[in-house]
Amino acid sequence: MSAARATESNGAGTTDGRHPIAATREELTGWGRAAPTVAHVAAPSAADDVAGLVVESGSRGVIARGLGRSYGDAAQNAGGMVLRLGGLDRISPVDPITGLVTCGAGVSVDRLIREALPRGWFVPVTPGTRQVSLGGALAADVHGKNHHRDGSISAHVTSLTLVDGRGALRTLTPSEELFWAVPGGMGLTGVVVELTMRLIRAQSSRMQVDTTRTTSLDETMAVLEESDRTSRYTVAWVDCLARGPAMGRGVVTAGDHAPADAAGDATAPSLGRRGMPAPPWVPSGALNPHTVGVFNDAYYLMAPRTPRRSLESVGSFFHPLDVVPGWNRLYGARGFVQHQFAVEDPQCVRRVVSLLSRRRAPTLLCVLKRFGPAGRGPLSFPSSGWTLAVDLPVSDSLGSLLDAMDEVVLASGGRVYLAKDARLRPESLVQMYPRLDEWRFLRDELDPEHVFQSDLARRLHL
Ligand SMILES: Cc1cc2nc3c(=O)[nH]c(=O)nc-3n(C[C@H](O)[C@H](O)[C@H](O)COP(=O)(O)OP(=O)(O)OC[C@H]3O[C@@H](n4cnc5c(N)ncnc54)[C@H](O)[C@@H]3O)c2cc1C
Repeated sequence: MSAARATESNGAGTTDGRHPIAATREELTGWGRAAPTVAHVAAPSAADDVAGLVVESGSRGVIARGLGRSYGDAAQNAGGMVLRLGGLDRISPVDPITGLVTCGAGVSVDRLIREALPRGWFVPVTPGTRQVSLGGALAADVHGKNHHRDGSISAHVTSLTLVDGRGALRTLTPSEELFWAVPGGMGLTGVVVELTMRLIRAQSSRMQVDTTRTTSLDETMAVLEESDRTSRYTVAWVDCLARGPAMGRGVVTAGDHAPADAAGDATAPSLGRRGMPAPPWVPSGALNPHTVGVFNDAYYLMAPRTPRRSLESVGSFFHPLDVVPGWNRLYGARGFVQHQFAVEDPQCVRRVVSLLSRRRAPTLLCVLKRFGPAGRGPLSFPSSGWTLAVDLPVSDSLGSLLDAMDEVVLASGGRVYLAKDARLRPESLVQMYPRLDEWRFLRDELDPEHVFQSDLARRLHL
């Protein structure tokens, strides 16, 4: 079936006349840059080539990689094969009536927005960066600021085609149980090569945004709950270094797509400006309680004292961090970890924010949001209630802080997000994801020999 064969050569050809896909040894990390490992990386650009590489992947197995924006080790496979899928880059025309679009799994959210927005359509769900592939977004079942209204990305996918563990192409739709093993399955159910999803209407490329500065965690949570009733997109930045009555103060933003008359012409998509890249090298420890405290104070004080409405570009509202390419290097050579959890009980959020504040955790990025109901995937992360995501630089004391956070989350029946995870323990995973065995059963049908392997899968005994 396949014309592909991995080789360490430059891909010039084999003696049997087939054209190999070159594989090169590469050190890979996640976005947090914390746990590098070396793999053989190949870049197929057709489904047949993906299938050939899966069949020939060898004892350490194979895993798909999109744009490497998962924070931990989900798209790494030490000593095995990694398939970089940017070459699966075809986009069909958007159906002007239904908004359905079929894309190769390597298409980025950035590219899809650029194609769709001038025609009056927008992606149904976008994470906080546009630089993710659709395959990676589906494998993690990503959520956006509209989860309380629209759910996660899998709710908008009408079919997917993947290469399974035997190298066979399968097309699955949401009416089949197997489909639901893929979102949240972190690449371990096969390589998605193509998917069809339904876009949403957007009359303009601008967002109408309400910004509210809050003085305490209680107020931050109350404003978020209230905003969810009125706005499609909501999120809060929380100052985790603030103490006493100010603990959990923050800035809540709530937005909707602006109507055409407020913003002008949708045919000129405004994704915002691109700024200076982060410097290539920053000393570890540059982000400490002092420097982060100064930043947090400045960011908080820059927000309007009284609620304000403004027009923003799609880019600055949804993807503010994309303005600084390579911002992950600001955390220095040791890298950083993001801990994101979901929990129903608001007291759990209070306990974790209080822990971070007491321990003087130098976190620039601490994002709070409410989730709507859970989706159908057994390993899909979002579940009804609250989610808090915190970036933390790697330091000697980080392990004990993360363990303490996990303990609080576990005690409240919460779970952490595997797309962000780099260090969870397997026994905690079992408690956090009660439908794990259901997922394993479906995965075994798609990949009976467990050809799909990753550092995350080995670490968590998936
Ligand atoms: C700044 C920033 C903000 C973020 N904000 C959010 C957010 O708001 N919400 C959210 O949910 N996530 C968020 N994320 C996480 C990110 O959306 C996910 O980790 C996403 O999976 C990254 O996509 P990727 O293409 O980079 O995938 P990679 O990181 O390369 O891979 C992620 C996983 O997907 C699998 N995978 C990739 N391609 C395929 C494929 N074709 N077939 C099968 N499996 C595949 C990989 O094996 C791996 O397990 C954010 C990340 C960053 C860096």
